[in-house]
Amino acid sequence: MNKPLKLAKPMPDLSKDRLPADYVLRLTKRALEPNNIIARQCFLCGAQPTSGKGEHVIPKWLQKRFNLWDSKLGLLNGSLLPYRNLRVPACATCNGEVLGKTENYVSKLSAESILEWSTDNSYEVGRWMAKILVGILYKEASLLNDQRQPALGAIFPPDAMGEMIMLHLLLQSWRKLVHFSAIHTQHPFTLYVYSLSEDIQYGSFNLSTNIFGKSICMRFGDLGFAFVGDGGLQHEMADLGPYNLARQQLHPIQFDELAARIHYKSSLRDATHRYINAEDADTFRFQQMAVIPYTKTKLPDGSDQVFKPWSLKQLAGVFEIYEVPGFEYLIDEAGEAAFTRLVNENGQKISIKA
Ligand SMILES: [Zn+2]
Repeated sequence: MNKPLKLAKPMPDLSKDRLPADYVLRLTKRALEPNNIIARQCFLCGAQPTSGKGEHVIPKWLQKRFNLWDSKLGLLNGSLLPYRNLRVPACATCNGEVLGKTENYVSKLSAESILEWSTDNSYEVGRWMAKILVGILYKEASLLNDQRQPALGAIFPPDAMGEMIMLHLLLQSWRKLVHFSAIHTQHPFTLYVYSLSEDIQYGSFNLSTNIFGKSICMRFGDLGFAFVGDGGLQHEMADLGPYNLARQQLHPIQFDELAARIHYKSSLRDATHRYINAEDADTFRFQQMAVIPYTKTKLPDGSDQVFKPWSLKQLAGVFEIYEVPGFEYLIDEAGEAAFTRLVNENGQKISIKA
């Protein structure tokens, strides 16, 4: 990353009365354009942002409810950023009209809603989780890796943001009806939801991400969400997630273990999808066409590998990195993550009391 800092290209006229029919795709591409990221244009559409403080990646209502202003996010370069400063530039339209509604929706969810969970809920929560993941990544792509050495470039290469286009299009569905057809699942992502018990010892909030695996897991209060921007591949492997525990009640430390397992799985993904899209004035259509293997490794049955082999040794390292509470008790003498707090030897959920 030795590119000199360039100003964003002049904006095409996308004012409301002159919207071209393919404006969703244009806005997405403009938002992901590396020069626009470097110039700190609106993270959702690439337009001139407001002069205000920008959009809180961890929503204000959530920070308020769980007193998170001074909690910190660990960035890829090892630095820590307080949530209060974890903000991305946003224009007035995106901040107010586009994002306001969904924040309102998610802020009203509770553990009881998990029991009556619908595909509509999944869609709303999925794109809300995608917004946080894209926001974190945008922040990493717009911050210098080392303030004293600007030539080294950003923490996350802005030109790699293009890989986020699928997640980004999900966010554009607030703007226009976006019609997704996925091969495996209802939606082009994996989402598992949990209802959580309370245990003040472990706090009422935890957030973890795997940027390269495009996974984000978050628990707050009595809700736990695990999201992977994998086109639904984990979901296809396990409809109800690890040990079939989705939509059940877990203890917070069980959710933290589960989150680490989902992040590890997302790092093993060895395939992506091919998509086609079409846009007219009213609808954006996005069709998942086929699974495209990366390494083209063949499995014994001749099919292509979609996930690299699961290793208990690697999982032990993942438990440690994500600081799963008491992870050392999940690892055996050989250094393998041979134990779990999720299910017993009969595969039944373990109940942990506060
Ligand atoms: Zn915008």
